[in-house]
Amino acid sequence: MSTWRPFIDGSDAGTASPRPLVNPATEEHCAEVVPAGAAEVEAAVAGADRAYRGGWRDIAPGKRAAILRAVAAAIREHVDELGKLDTMQMGKPIMDAVDEADTAAGVFEYYAGAVTRLTGSTIPVSRGGFDYTLRQPMGVVAAIVPWNFPLLIACWKVCPALAAGNSVVLKPASFSPLTAIRLGQLAAGAGLPPGVLQVLPGPGGSIGDALVGHPLVRKIGFTGSTEVGSRLMAMAAKGIKRVSLELGGKSPNIVFADSDVDKAAASSPMSVFANTGQDCCARSRMFVERRVFDRFVDGFVAATKSLKVGDPTDKATQVGPMVSANQREISEAFLKEARAAGRKVLIGGDRPGSKGFYLNPAVVTGVEPADRIWREEIFGPVVCIRPFDDEEAMIEEVNASPYGLSGSLWTNDLKRAIRVANRVESGVISVNCHNSVHTDAPFGGFKQSGIGRDLGMEALANYTETKNVYVAP
Ligand code: NAP
Repeated sequence: MSTWRPFIDGSDAGTASPRPLVNPATEEHCAEVVPAGAAEVEAAVAGADRAYRGGWRDIAPGKRAAILRAVAAAIREHVDELGKLDTMQMGKPIMDAVDEADTAAGVFEYYAGAVTRLTGSTIPVSRGGFDYTLRQPMGVVAAIVPWNFPLLIACWKVCPALAAGNSVVLKPASFSPLTAIRLGQLAAGAGLPPGVLQVLPGPGGSIGDALVGHPLVRKIGFTGSTEVGSRLMAMAAKGIKRVSLELGGKSPNIVFADSDVDKAAASSPMSVFANTGQDCCARSRMFVERRVFDRFVDGFVAATKSLKVGDPTDKATQVGPMVSANQREISEAFLKEARAAGRKVLIGGDRPGSKGFYLNPAVVTGVEPADRIWREEIFGPVVCIRPFDDEEAMIEEVNASPYGLSGSLWTNDLKRAIRVANRVESGVISVNCHNSVHTDAPFGGFKQSGIGRDLGMEALANYTETKNVYVAP
C-alpha cells in the first residue's frame, strides 16, 4: 500500500502516524496518508511566504506563464494516473475522473494565458498628473477544497492565485488528498519553485483553523459546505483576511411545456445524478409545468433506469459509489423521512449490492415546499420533481431557497428564457442544457452559495489587491 505525505518546499514531509484511506467502491484500505499537524502548517506557511518574497511575486510575467504551461503539460501527461487516483479515493467513474484531470490541465493553460492580461488602468484624475492602478498579489493564499471534484476545484483556486503571483498552501479534503499531493509533485517537477505550492493533507478542523488563523496567510479560497464556510468567514474576520467562498446549493431545473420536453427528460438525470449527486450544482429540485408533468416524469424515470450504476473503474459506468458510508446514510435518512410523510419514491434509494457505498438514484414526487428533502442540500443521488402552473409563483418558489448557485431552464420561448434567467437568484444558469461550468467564465453563488467567483478572468479579483498610484505633474 502506498504512503502519501504532506508536500512542503518541494519535498515529502510529516512525522505523524499514517492513516488509512478507504476506497468507497470496495470499502478496503487503498493507501495511507501522513496527516499534517501544527509543525507542518508552520513550515508550509513560512516556506510559502519565503517563496513568495524570495522571487515568485517578482518573476517576469512571461516566465511565470511558461511555468504554468509546463505544469499543464505535466498534468496532461499524467491524466490517466490522476484519474485512477480520484476513482480509487472517492469513487468517481474513471471516464469522468480522467476528463476532470484533462480539464484541470486546461485550467492551468487558461491562467497561464491570463498572466500577461492581468492589467490595471490609467485614470484621468481631476487634479492632473498621472494616475494608474496595479493588480498586485496578496502573499500566501490558503486554498481549502472538498472531495467531490478533488483535483479540479483545487486548480480553480491554485491557478489564478499562482498566476497573480501568490504562493499557495493547499488543504485537500481528508477523503481525497492523493491528487492534490500529486499535483504538488508534478508542479515541482515541471519547474514551479519549491514552496510556491505546498500541500497539507489532514483534518480540516485543526489544519484549516491553523491556516485561517496564521498571521502570514492573507487570503482564504474555500470550497465546501455553507456551514464550514460561514465558520471560516467568522474566523477570517478577526484578521480582516480576504475570503472567497464557493458553498452549497439546491439548484432548480425548470421545464416549461413549450420546451423540447423529451430532450429535457432524457438529459436531466445526469444533471443531478452525475458524480452520484455529490455535486454543488446538482439540479435536485425540478419544477415541471403541470401540462407536461407526467410526460416529463415518465421520460426522466426511463432515462434514470438506463444509467449504469456500478464499479467506477469500469469505463461504461456513469454513477459510482458515494464517497462514504456516512454520506450514503444522509441520503437514506432524507428518503426515509419522505416515505414516512407519504411522498412517492418512484425508483431508487436502495443499495444495489452489499459491498461499496452504492445507492441507486432515487426519484421522488408528491413533495411539499416545506419538506426537508425539497429545501435542504442532500449531496446524494436524490431528486424531487414538483409540478407548477404559474411562472411568477414558480420563480418565487425557486428563489425561496437560501442557496443560489446554479440551475437550468428549458423553454423554446426566447423572451421567457431571458426573463426567467434574469429573475432566478443564482450565480449561473443554463438554458436548454445543463452546462454551467466553463473554465473561461465566472462561476459562483448568490446568497448562501458563496462570495466571489471562481474561473474566468473574474477569479483573478479573488487573488489580487488593487493599488492606485498617483504621480504628481
Ligand atoms: P466541508 O465539510 O465543508 O469540507 C470542505 C473542506 O473544508 C475540506 O477540506 C475539509 O477538510 C475542510 N474543513 C472541514 N472543517 C473545517 C474547519 N472547521 N475549518 C477549516 N476547514 C475545514 O465540505 P465537503 O463535505 O468536503 O463538500 C461538500 C460541500 O461542498 C457541499 O455543501 C457542496 O455543495 C459544497 N461544494 C460547493 C462547490 C461550489 O463550487 N459552490 C463545489 C463543490 C462542493 P476535511 O475533509 O479534513 O474535513
